[in-house]
Amino acid sequence: MKSTDPVQEPILYVNGAFVPRSDAKISVFDHVILYGDGVYDTMCAWNHAIFKLDEHIDRLYESAHAVKLNIPVSKEELKAIVIETVRRNHLANAYVKVVATRGVGAQPLMSPYDCKPGLIIFAVPYVSLVSGGHEETGIKMIVSSLRRIPNECISTKIKSCNYLNHILMRLEANEAGADDAIELDLEGYVCEAPGYNVFIVKNGEIYTPSDNILVGITRQTVLELAAMLQLPAKEARIQPFDLYNADEVFLSSTAGGIFAVVELDGRRIGEGRPGAITTRIRERYVSLLEGRTHSRLVE
Ligand code: PLP
Repeated sequence: MKSTDPVQEPILYVNGAFVPRSDAKISVFDHVILYGDGVYDTMCAWNHAIFKLDEHIDRLYESAHAVKLNIPVSKEELKAIVIETVRRNHLANAYVKVVATRGVGAQPLMSPYDCKPGLIIFAVPYVSLVSGGHEETGIKMIVSSLRRIPNECISTKIKSCNYLNHILMRLEANEAGADDAIELDLEGYVCEAPGYNVFIVKNGEIYTPSDNILVGITRQTVLELAAMLQLPAKEARIQPFDLYNADEVFLSSTAGGIFAVVELDGRRIGEGRPGAITTRIRERYVSLLEGRTHSRLVE
């Protein structure tokens, strides 16, 4: 997927006002900066329509509720602001981020009380986590030596502004010459990847981890597409062994869509190129985005 939208100075929504990027500022004392204390969601606009806007906004409010952060506008108001942000940027295809911050406290200490929550929204031309043609050819990964912070520490369903755990795993993968990292939980089972959910295909069936993951909206879409295509799909506990020996491995994410993993820890996966089921799901996903049946129009 490529964005062909015009380049201009982006317009952002920051704490109640639309401002050009050069004027978009928040306090250095906002807890999101001091402590990563905030939640966010990322969605994409495709063909002048925002894909699964309701689902993304619901997930954002659930994350906020879980960390007891009151988003300062209602869900319907927020949807309207998100649509208006995309509209003001004249983007057909956009990468859109909504960040709800804890805000500034009475003192720069860790107390979550007395803070006035903030809201930041930006829409830029669509950017993918996968670049350099790898969307078509597939990516190479390693299994990270680190472990994903598990549910026992913080619910992995919360899309929080603290992504250091994921970033360190991506850093490790990139330093090792791989495109990204497979994340394991404390028991050694595959959970996800920094910004994507993971799927394997074995003997015509699709499997995906259920525990210690962010419940991806694209993951849910893949499960819906699998049902539509009458491909059996199940949640399962998956080990690196299962990935090495899968017929196909693919990832799902708002920022990138569906794409194949063709190598893991130096082992070729399947035929070493995107497999038939990955390709079918990917094509259906792109049609869904372009068809706008699950999207909210921006015009
Ligand atoms: N897992 C993590 C940790 C993520 O941050 C994301 C998205 O940003 C995903 C999975 C994929 O979720 P979605 O399909 O909703 O983009």
